[in-house]
Amino acid sequence: MSIDISQEYWAQHDESGEYPHELHAALAKDGWLGIALPEDLGGAGLGISEATMMLHTIAESGAGIAGAQTVHANVYATQPVAKFATREQRQRMLPKLISGEYRACFGVTEPNTGLETLKLRTLAKRDGDHYSITGQKIWISSAQVASKMVLLARTTALEDVKKPSEGLSLFFIDFDKNAPGLELKRIKKMGGRAIDANEVFFDGYRVPADSLIGEEGQGFKIVLHGMNAERCLLAGEALGLGYAALTRASNYARERVVFGRPIGQNQGIQHPLAAAYMNLEAAKLATYHAARLYDSSVHDQSITQHAIGVACNSAKYLAAEAAFTACERAVLAHGGMGYAQEYHVERYLRECFVPRIAPVSREMILNYVGEKVLKLPRSY
Ligand SMILES: Cc1cc2nc3c(=O)[nH]c(=O)nc-3n(C[C@H](O)[C@H](O)[C@H](O)COP(=O)(O)OP(=O)(O)OC[C@H]3O[C@@H](n4cnc5c(N)ncnc54)[C@H](O)[C@@H]3O)c2cc1C
Repeated sequence: MSIDISQEYWAQHDESGEYPHELHAALAKDGWLGIALPEDLGGAGLGISEATMMLHTIAESGAGIAGAQTVHANVYATQPVAKFATREQRQRMLPKLISGEYRACFGVTEPNTGLETLKLRTLAKRDGDHYSITGQKIWISSAQVASKMVLLARTTALEDVKKPSEGLSLFFIDFDKNAPGLELKRIKKMGGRAIDANEVFFDGYRVPADSLIGEEGQGFKIVLHGMNAERCLLAGEALGLGYAALTRASNYARERVVFGRPIGQNQGIQHPLAAAYMNLEAAKLATYHAARLYDSSVHDQSITQHAIGVACNSAKYLAAEAAFTACERAVLAHGGMGYAQEYHVERYLRECFVPRIAPVSREMILNYVGEKVLKLPRSY
């Protein structure tokens, strides 16, 4: 019964587009938001493995990707801040995120750059003891409710750097929608509608110089630390959604009787669900292997960034595909009712496209593995 109450909550929020403030507040109250942040800042001092498990569990409860995204950015986007910020910055920036007083969004994607992150153009120009930010970001989740942003921007224009990976810098900024030079436009989207996605326009938006994390020009290297963590979290979220879909599908297939027997007695229904389950199990191993590598690398210098990148990207790919298969088969197993909002699996199917697209698409992961693991010629 309680599961159905929570399912209705998510169905209603998906329809209204209202942010799930209650979940964020409950997780903050019980200390979950700082799961992977240091104890001296009020966090739990655990790792990305535990954080992945948390998001997996939230998604599997029926909250799906929307539920997980309520806290997703607060977990991964804070990783580079915790690692590369000064002691004073960490104290100033992180405890209030952990307590839930602040919420953060993550600003990387740009409309004219897409997956070619190194070509991003938003410029943060030093102006005395401030930076002035001008440019555009797109698809920024939770920007309507966030009061902070972890921002990747150029401090040296693309035209003036030798390599495009140079000249990028990471900032943790106040995200004050009442201040001059900052505007948002909400994007209408296919699923996970409780979490807003936005176009963000900066036009001479000023932030104090001490919003810079780490050294100027080192932003790409710094942000990679958060990006690998994000791939693990999204893999966990995809798994949760996939398992939730399979639970609903098998419940329905046991109960629905057509031609005098439960539809789940037909191998045409049963086998695809069984295969989807095994796909999820395999992707689960890949996901927790990647998260363990990420966490162990803190103490074990023999684990390379390359190994972590390959594991995290592979896990995200496998989990997203396994979730998609599970959600699609869950809809089909429900027949016409799979298309009805009341049975929730159509919501899961709409949401499960997100881990296939973001934060890096399936195609770019295949490019990465083809080039970096199989040593094939770069295809683009
Ligand atoms: C719901 C949602 C939430 C998001 N939240 C955030 C957020 O909070 N912060 C943020 O910064 N971003 C966010 N994003 C953005 C997301 O990370 C990007 O959409 C994603 O990285 C893909 O970039 P793009 O949309 O520009 O695709 P494009 O770069 O335009 O690519 C379009 C298609 O072309 C393919 N393609 C491009 N180049 C190649 C190539 N060389 N080889 C093969 N295929 C190629 C891609 O795989 C993709 O299928 C979010 C996106 C979504 C949908």
